[in-house]
Amino acid sequence: MGSRDWGVAAADLILGAVCAGCGRPALTLCDECVPYLVASAFVAWPQPTPAGLLSPTPITPVAAGRYVGPLRSALSCFKEEGQFGLLPVLSRMLAAPVRFAEFHGPLLLVPVPSSPGAKRRRGYDAIDQLARSSALLLRKDGVDCRTRQLLRHRRAVEDQSGLSAVDRWRNLHGAFEVREKRILSGRSIVVVDDILTTGATASEAVRALTKVGHRPLGIAVIAATARKPGRAREVEKQGAVEKQGAVEK
Ligand SMILES: [Zn+2]
Repeated sequence: MGSRDWGVAAADLILGAVCAGCGRPALTLCDECVPYLVASAFVAWPQPTPAGLLSPTPITPVAAGRYVGPLRSALSCFKEEGQFGLLPVLSRMLAAPVRFAEFHGPLLLVPVPSSPGAKRRRGYDAIDQLARSSALLLRKDGVDCRTRQLLRHRRAVEDQSGLSAVDRWRNLHGAFEVREKRILSGRSIVVVDDILTTGATASEAVRALTKVGHRPLGIAVIAATARKPGRAREVEKQGAVEKQGAVEK
């Protein structure tokens, strides 16, 4: 057994340290899970694509990985269990889509706001932390990049994770607003989030920013969920409801 293995064994004995990806004894991540948390950025349009991401100008979502396996577990450990040791690896993943998309000019990363309830429960704003840490990494690489929490909730929302595609749209539509109208001028906005599923959260962020004249350039996320066939018609139906303005409060 090498010294690192002895260290892991000791940490497991004392702290119950387990890999955030698979649950085996390890410090933060085991050697087998590390490759699953290396970014492989790709364009990740949700299907069906929310109309608000296509017009008046298309806003391309780029993801660093798929929301499966060790990456899915690690995101859960970071957000729900406060495993801050994962911040460096997850921040590197969030920075990768920004580099991949080659957004030009000075950038402003705008994190999707966590709900007040989630912030209270966790004691911190997980996405804001990720955005700040990613912007720092990008600046070290010479990218002119800042971050600012421009968005906030204007009404209470439910936790999205347990909702159907239609309910996700109902839950979030009209839920965000821009907290400060005087935004750093001359910076292109990239909306950042941890997970892209139906695109409802990202679309709501885009809607709120577009409304005050700051349409984002793109969306960067750590993980995109695989498309679930059968959900499409549900969301298309919801799109028709949205056009009638029936869900905006
Ligand atoms: Zn593992």
